[in-house]
Amino acid sequence: MGRVVLKAGREKPVRQRHPWIFSGAIQRVASDVVDGDIVDVVSAGGEFLARGYVNRRSQISVRLLTWNESEAVDEAFWRCRLERAIRARPANEPACRLVNAESDGLPGLVVDRYGDWLIAQVLTLGVERIKNALAGWLIEWLDMKGVYERSDVEIREKEGLPQVVGALRGKEPPDAIEIAERASTGGEVKFQVDVKRGHKTGLYLDQRDNRRKVAAYCRDAEVLNLFSYTGGFGVHALAAGARRVVHVDSSADALSMARRNVALNGFPAPEDDFAEGNVFGVLRRYRAEGRRFDVVIADPPKFVHTAGQIERASRAYKDLNLVSMQILNPGGVLATFSCSGLVPADLFQKIVFGASIDSGRDAQIVEKLSQAGDHPIGLSFPEAEYLKGLVCRVW
Ligand code: SAH
Repeated sequence: MGRVVLKAGREKPVRQRHPWIFSGAIQRVASDVVDGDIVDVVSAGGEFLARGYVNRRSQISVRLLTWNESEAVDEAFWRCRLERAIRARPANEPACRLVNAESDGLPGLVVDRYGDWLIAQVLTLGVERIKNALAGWLIEWLDMKGVYERSDVEIREKEGLPQVVGALRGKEPPDAIEIAERASTGGEVKFQVDVKRGHKTGLYLDQRDNRRKVAAYCRDAEVLNLFSYTGGFGVHALAAGARRVVHVDSSADALSMARRNVALNGFPAPEDDFAEGNVFGVLRRYRAEGRRFDVVIADPPKFVHTAGQIERASRAYKDLNLVSMQILNPGGVLATFSCSGLVPADLFQKIVFGASIDSGRDAQIVEKLSQAGDHPIGLSFPEAEYLKGLVCRVW
């Protein structure tokens, strides 16, 4: 077994089971180690600390898999970790994250289920090496039609890996997979999901519970669904009895899928309810026109990718929330989200507070939201917490 020796005094996070070892903490990697190998990580004094896979090309040079010296990282290990993750998921959720990488003890691997299909994202060299075997076990064990790979993510570059999209095991999924989500009223809503070209693995599964929770505020309401993507929050709002939902997105493809999804659930889908454009401009236009809504949902993409972007992003969040509040009827509801992991929940709340002050509107938090439970946050890996939402009543 290859060995990675840490610098003196750098073992504390490893002992606290943080799964990452940065290159700066490493004193020496044994000369026989090949990137992608399983290695033992030892302290400067030679004491065993943990075992994981290595990739010197990445700043995160080792991702840890076990802290138990007698646990070998072999076929049985990987199977056992997959089973542990999947058994912890609800059995009756047709669209669900089955494996959430580090937080499930499987760094570098994401697996989502959409009906009879699995969609995998392989983010690291260590998992790249074993992905075919993993896909084979999964398809067999869960009796799926196929495992499709959506490793078209930029972070693979940091691992020296090209982007990959295609069938990993079994059949190739159709262009659209239909799945159902439980609605706030107890029934179901259906979605067509483009798992081959859609964002992430096709759907924002992290928002599944929140779509239902926010919909509960939408009965008889005029709803504005900003950053609508394929209509997630909007379809749930209609199912909950919204009078009308206006979807706004800059992507024509996302909007046409949203329109399809609204129609799929039996609701009218007039063209006017699907506005293509930049949310920041559309909001200003609505404000100028005096348009008002009872519920505004704002679920923007990630604004912060590096710590240096926090200030600029904070201004964007503030602006978005400010104008959203201004176009709400008194007593209306703003459901506002940030999926930027680098913006902590307390900062996000302060930004929304600032927006309420500047809009001259009184606002109260009625609900705090987070990522769905199938996107668990390892207690030793707080980096996994990224999604936060505030449901505010605005007077
Ligand atoms: N709420 C959605 C997910 C939103 S993803 C759901 O639950 O499914 C973010 C969406 O914002 C994407 O569809 C993207 O096309 C869109 N988008 C990004 N920047 C935008 C902008 N400035 N104006 C309008 N839409 C934008």
